[in-house]
Amino acid sequence: MEDQAGLELSPRKVEYLKYVYEKGRTVKTNELASHFSVDPSTVTKSILELAESGYLSHAPYRGVTLTDSGTMYAKFLVKRHRILSLILVRNGLSEDRACQEVNRFESFVSRNAVDTMCCAMGHPQFGVCGTITHDDGCLQVSMTHFKNQVESSGCGDL
Ligand SMILES: [Zn+2]
Ligand SMILES: [Zn+2]
Repeated sequence: MEDQAGLELSPRKVEYLKYVYEKGRTVKTNELASHFSVDPSTVTKSILELAESGYLSHAPYRGVTLTDSGTMYAKFLVKRHRILSLILVRNGLSEDRACQEVNRFESFVSRNAVDTMCCAMGHPQFGVCGTITHDDGCLQVSMTHFKNQVESSGCGDL
């Protein structure tokens, strides 16, 4: 089951959460709609679902802000994006292309996979599009029951 963690949200919802997180303020539905070129009613539907799942708090006519658990989750989303894009850049992609490619598939990569790769890469400080923060997930990965997997990937000396 733990392997599923990180896969809770659709690609679009991942983009919304990252956007609100990066803005660091209340974001209006219309702003999301125009930024992502989607219909406001579509955004509203996703926002209500995200609020229902506890990621966002939604004030009618004012907009949305991240809840505490939404903020925690958004930090993981940003880290996942930056770890994955760093891998693509190290394998020959330009920075812009790496970010674009990762935006398309990042929501299908589990938290455990990201933590394991972060650990194997030595917890890089700088990603392609910003700094990478390390949390309990990746820093404790060698102490979890994925220990064998981690050791064989070369980061058992944490
Ligand atoms: Zn990026
Ligand atoms: Zn890390």
